[in-house]
Amino acid sequence: MYWNSLNDALRAEYGGKVYKLALSSGCSCPNRDGTLGTRGCIFCDGAGAFAEAGDIPDQLAAAKARVAAKTGPGTKYIAYFQSFTNTYAPADRLRELYTAAMEPADVAALSIATRPDCLSPEILELLEGMNRKKPVWVELGLQTIHPASASYIRRGYGLPVFDRAVEELKDRGMTVVVHQILGLPGETKAMMAQTARYIGASGADGIKFHLLHVLRGTDLAAEWQAGRVRVMDLDDYIATLEACLRNIPREMVVHRLTGDGAKRDLLAPLWSGDKKRVLNAIHNAFRRDDLEQGSALTAGEKGKFTK
Ligand code: SF4
Repeated sequence: MYWNSLNDALRAEYGGKVYKLALSSGCSCPNRDGTLGTRGCIFCDGAGAFAEAGDIPDQLAAAKARVAAKTGPGTKYIAYFQSFTNTYAPADRLRELYTAAMEPADVAALSIATRPDCLSPEILELLEGMNRKKPVWVELGLQTIHPASASYIRRGYGLPVFDRAVEELKDRGMTVVVHQILGLPGETKAMMAQTARYIGASGADGIKFHLLHVLRGTDLAAEWQAGRVRVMDLDDYIATLEACLRNIPREMVVHRLTGDGAKRDLLAPLWSGDKKRVLNAIHNAFRRDDLEQGSALTAGEKGKFTK
């Protein structure tokens, strides 16, 4: 059995577990503020949640306190702007935020979640400068390569925009992580494996898998309540995840095997609320099936991504 987990990759690089500190940038999203749309992606529960970012040192301290029981002297952290579109603000404002977040000596890297259509030349230049100080990871929410699903979820940009963003970021030396959602309506296991394969060949360094889950208050919830959407069961999810992992290069770092839904607002599938049980089931299945990341790729495809 082999898959390249983020924990293993970080242990190899930093000699121990590295903790993420989730921070808020206060950025909105063009898919929410009226630039591209007002209702956001169909699964997004972010309406009205674009709070002004608090002081970054305070946010870092609060985030560290949340993991304090597990950490000790010498622990390294990744400062992580996770929610919404964290490059969607003037470059000067972002420079302040990013600089403050990567300032502490125990912050090993900065991770920034955003959309591929929010990377102007000015922002790319800013990110490149930051990446000279400490590693910058840029996370792109692609979710799927299939146009019908992209339009159903109201993603708001086309695949060439993603391709260009990955190329621009890699040209500037950034680490690129791509998000994929499993279980989008109308997608088969083969289609999801195709998306994973595409991400694997895109030049990105890492991938994050999420399960499509239905959160209260989203437009997806209305679709689900009306019976127009069915969610995956755990066995389906695991089988699909395995198919995806077999289709990405061995060297690609797997940042996440399933998402972290807000349990309070989770409507379906309810099994996804018990993350420990889900991860145990996934790991047991990987052992049972002797899962090998990259096993569905040809020798040429595998070699292409050797670090
Ligand atoms: S791009 Fe992200 S923040 Fe914006 S609507 Fe979609 S999921 Fe929500």
